[in-house]
Amino acid sequence: MHWQIAVALVAAVVAGVWSGPDGAALPLFDFLGTLFLNALKMLVVPLIVSAILNGLASMQGSTLTRIGLHTIAYYVGTGLVAILTGLFFVNMLMPGIVDGTPAGPRMGLDASTTEVVQQMQGKGIADFARVLLLLFPPNIFAAAAEGQMLGLICFSLLFGYAASRLPGAPGRSQREFWQGFYGVMIRLTGLIMRFAPVGVFGLVSVVIARTGWDALRPLAMFFVTVVLALATHALITLPLVLRGVARVSPWKHYRAMGPALAMAFSTSSSAATLPVTQNCVEQRAGVPLRVSGFVLPIGANVNTDGSALYECVVAMFIAQAYGVELGFGGQFVVVLGALFTSLGIAGIPSASLVGIAVILGAVGLPLEGIGLVLAVDRILDMCRTTVNVLGDSCAAVVVGRLEGEEGILGEPALRIRKAAGPG
Ligand code: ASP
Repeated sequence: MHWQIAVALVAAVVAGVWSGPDGAALPLFDFLGTLFLNALKMLVVPLIVSAILNGLASMQGSTLTRIGLHTIAYYVGTGLVAILTGLFFVNMLMPGIVDGTPAGPRMGLDASTTEVVQQMQGKGIADFARVLLLLFPPNIFAAAAEGQMLGLICFSLLFGYAASRLPGAPGRSQREFWQGFYGVMIRLTGLIMRFAPVGVFGLVSVVIARTGWDALRPLAMFFVTVVLALATHALITLPLVLRGVARVSPWKHYRAMGPALAMAFSTSSSAATLPVTQNCVEQRAGVPLRVSGFVLPIGANVNTDGSALYECVVAMFIAQAYGVELGFGGQFVVVLGALFTSLGIAGIPSASLVGIAVILGAVGLPLEGIGLVLAVDRILDMCRTTVNVLGDSCAAVVVGRLEGEEGILGEPALRIRKAAGPG
């Protein structure tokens, strides 16, 4: 499957370049990609619910608190490092300055900027109180239908907690039911994944055909900055965490995650990739459902290292392009804004743009600046979503190892208490 997906990716690039934005075959490619994406998305709601319920069913209250704290610490810690990596590269490479002058005027604003601004109006990220309200949707089915995953996750956590405490036969049958349900979802994921090469081909060829190489040229430096920063996070920071904290081979982890990373790259959606991520983390990396069922569904919606990094780089790039010098205070607001908005954006394509709009508003930059990056946003979305999914999967491995689970990536259980050592 690995190789089939890799061949599909290469074929998609060739077909996309060959077809161009008006190619006759494009609607067919689009159809294939959408069909596959719909099939994956179809799994997301039942999968989130059953994975969380199963994960919780076997946990004691104290275990839940511990796993919860480890998960939050990991999400905030790696998110912050990702943002600082982006900040470092954007300050070093200065993609918004060309030949010593701000690049804004010479790039002109993208034609569809006004459209984007209109789209964004009233769509700003929920403030704190609104996020809390989202956690408790009045109608759980409406929340699921509208893709309000935070509400669905919260409901599943509460339901799982209550079900795990239901005594006697009814409790047992509840747990068995959801166990079976989850098993079915995993099998369905496997079935749909057989069509992954065709789906990947369809999704990627359309993006390449519509974006084209010309769009990249004026934004080459910005593109390079984002890709370098993302690569640093994926190839240096996260492997260090895997080695240093989880004590596993990062290489083995990448291999285990291959299909999920390819899927994230093709779909630009961590939420749509969740079934595949869950499958890889559990079946290939060996993280038990008790941990992965809790860490992954939440991570796909909350832990977005790649997006946080991207938001920071874009905000700084726009400031540079407008010739605005952001001092320490301004950069601090950007960093905090990226951290908080990345928690609130959904795992869907282009979600970061909403977060960026909020950050621009917070530092007082014009929203129109987003127009500068629109041309390459879709391709960079593929890259940052891959990093988002990689980050989620690393979280599952780290938390699983800290829980003393046996057999993760073929390793014996970590002796945490002993490792703390004397004194
Ligand atoms: N597409 C990203 C994801 O699904 C979110 C974003 O950065 O736009 O993870």
